[in-house]
Amino acid sequence: MVRFSRVSKRYGELTVLDNLDLDVAAGEMITIIGPSGSGKTTVLRMLMTLETINEGVIYVDGKPLTHMEKRGKLVRADRRYLRQMRAQIGMCFQHFNLFPHMTALENCMEGPVQVLGMKKAAARARSEELLELVGMADKRDQHPARLSGGQQQRVAIARALAMRPKVMLFDEVTSALDPEVIGEVTTVIRNLVDKHNLTMLMVTHQMGFAKDISDRVCFFFDGKIEEQNSPDELFSNPQKERTQQFLSAVK
Ligand code: ATP
Repeated sequence: MVRFSRVSKRYGELTVLDNLDLDVAAGEMITIIGPSGSGKTTVLRMLMTLETINEGVIYVDGKPLTHMEKRGKLVRADRRYLRQMRAQIGMCFQHFNLFPHMTALENCMEGPVQVLGMKKAAARARSEELLELVGMADKRDQHPARLSGGQQQRVAIARALAMRPKVMLFDEVTSALDPEVIGEVTTVIRNLVDKHNLTMLMVTHQMGFAKDISDRVCFFFDGKIEEQNSPDELFSNPQKERTQQFLSAVK
């Protein structure tokens, strides 16, 4: 569903992603872990087309993300194509970025109505369903300022899902939360993994959570995948010295 093929990203002299190859199958949940600055968030930002690619190609559902095929050649995509590709990907950030002047329900309806051109009644029905899914149905008429961090994050997840993405990205979604509400957000994500056939990429510093819900964990180091494996194997039997050092430091 998602494929990075020899992708490199540089900022001036700094190479952030170095010839990265990464395949994520449809319905797979992968977690990216690694030291600060190893390029984890950059992977997600590139999928959101928030960063340009220096080399290589990213494919989503078999199509190049930022380039179109024309007469057998890849050329830079036009706006319409980019918009279509971008619409397949939903993202939740550490800071929830909800629209402060809108209620939880209005936050969820905004994208489907404004971007997908959905009728209001249909967008409302879908948003209500999703707020139910994340356990926020009873707070649908509240504004973000009246919600706890965990509740805001759950609304942000519902809002991203309202756009019917094929791929969901989660960037440190629990790191701005108080410990007592982390569980409610992890439960929602675990529920998505168990019951919905979404392809998901998650960046987290919470190793317990990564271990619990991932199909595969990728350990990044210096813009490359140093080691990847099932969570059981990677956490209990890391093969590479850098992985061992990292895991013993974060325990
Ligand atoms: P963390 O765990 O601290 O969030 P990370 O592994 O997610 O780190 P990235 O955010 O992907 O790391 O950043 C990788 C490197 O790219 C870092 O050294 C960062 O300083 C650098 N970087 C990111 N964005 C830019 C930018 N816009 N301009 C210059 N350098 C950048």
